[in-house]
Amino acid sequence: MNGERLIENMAVRIEEERDAGVERVRRRIARTGRAHCLNCGDGIEPARRAALTSAIRCVECERRREVRAMRGW
Ligand SMILES: [Zn+2]
Repeated sequence: MNGERLIENMAVRIEEERDAGVERVRRRIARTGRAHCLNCGDGIEPARRAALTSAIRCVECERRREVRAMRGW
């Protein structure tokens, strides 16, 4: 492997790593979702946001919503 080829490979690798980093950050933002409940504005616990990517309500509001849905309101 000549020097030029080696540098080329390194450049590709650096680019891949940078892309992976960007992708990670992008995924983390998508994963964190909303910081505050859509209904009451209370903070949504980070644990809940981590467990449920689409969490847009706090536990309390989500539970109430589910009860309503079950009753067919
Ligand atoms: Zn709420």
